[in-house]
Amino acid sequence: MASINSVTRQIAALEISSKPNTTRPTTTNHQKKSSQDASKIKLLNKYAAPNPFVPTHTKSSSSVSSVATVKQQVSRPPSPTKPQQKSKPAAPAQPSFDIGKYDGGFELDQESRGGKVYGDAAKELALDSSVSGPHPTREWHLTDFDMGRPLGKGKFGRVYMVRTKVEPHFILALKCLYKKEIVESRVEKQIRREIEIQQNLRHPHVLRLYGYFHDEQRIFLMLEFAGKGELYKQLTKYGRFSEKRSSRYIDQMADALGYLHAKHVIHRDIKPENLLLGINGELKIGDFGWSVHAPGNRRTTLCGTLDYLPPEMVEGRDHSEKVDLWALGVLTYEFIVGNPPFEDMSGYNATYKRIAKVDLRIPNTVSPEARDVITRLLQYDPEKRLALSEVRKHPWIVKHRSKDSLSGLTSY
Ligand code: ATP
Ligand code: MG
Repeated sequence: MASINSVTRQIAALEISSKPNTTRPTTTNHQKKSSQDASKIKLLNKYAAPNPFVPTHTKSSSSVSSVATVKQQVSRPPSPTKPQQKSKPAAPAQPSFDIGKYDGGFELDQESRGGKVYGDAAKELALDSSVSGPHPTREWHLTDFDMGRPLGKGKFGRVYMVRTKVEPHFILALKCLYKKEIVESRVEKQIRREIEIQQNLRHPHVLRLYGYFHDEQRIFLMLEFAGKGELYKQLTKYGRFSEKRSSRYIDQMADALGYLHAKHVIHRDIKPENLLLGINGELKIGDFGWSVHAPGNRRTTLCGTLDYLPPEMVEGRDHSEKVDLWALGVLTYEFIVGNPPFEDMSGYNATYKRIAKVDLRIPNTVSPEARDVITRLLQYDPEKRLALSEVRKHPWIVKHRSKDSLSGLTSY
């Protein structure tokens, strides 16, 4: 931990762009710090998602459970109903969480990938949750975090495990995006939309975006830490999942998609690569790059990954939130069988044709109940696809649902 602290001190010395806060009253440094800290805690608690380190006892998945922290969990007082003997101190509920060693990646990247952006692009990418959106958060800077181990590399930057310096020492994934690269790829609007959509979502199976801030060259996203990493890695490791495991993931997906659709958000890019796993193995939808907020709208943009595209998008017709139902069917198939149903090694065109014909071949090893879910979701006519509420009531889902699952049946 000493090395993390020393690196953190170095980072703390870095100059991060900050807006002067004119509304803050003049106080001594100490008073100022403690009042800032207090407001950070308040905002974190107010807008935070369930903490992945704390098992939740909430039955309904749509209700946001109160936030506990790693620290609170470690030093949780003994339960009043079970008095502890004084001679035997209470064992910590969990060992203190090690965030790992920082490798200096942000600073290394800065030299090769940094660069200012100008004009409209600079305005578009001046993203800061403390001043935008319906739920403004606290003003954040890179110096507010202890840096930990690298979690992965994305298209526009790296992702690190971090901890807020301020109590209650939240563990987060901090994702960095380089503005210059965003502008070069001409995705300023898409990134902005992705951030704005994700920031407004609160669901146990949707990765939370707690806040975001920027400097001249980078945007930082404060994401919920998905302790078990990428679902895709698990799928690659095991080849495919058991029907029980698949069914539980599909239940969680249907729950999350029901929530998104009720908010008029169409995801449009459901695939294993965009799913993460929380510390208890629960699924988290983690990538909103292609999602749209489309109240009563039908879009014609062709996007998404080939294998998961529905017939209406392959054929260039208008589409609706029912595209996510098709993708859920493809996902169910891929979880159980190990590859997507319309994959065709001879090329894109062959895959397109198979999708348009709904050329679906389900191996005999798949149970009749799972087969029923897949065929009912993979319907050519979007209106005929099994509704999410029906997916969640389907015998294949109900049979495998664990009693203490987060995803109790919820209506939207
Ligand atoms: P790509 O197109 O390669 O997916 P991206 O810009 O979408 O890039 P992410 O997928 O968000 O980037 O992040 C890159 C990697 O970092 C992920 O594959 C994952 O391993 C890790 N990662 C991202 N976010 C988190 C998180 N919240 N918790 C844990 N690990 C994460
Ligand atoms: Mg990604």
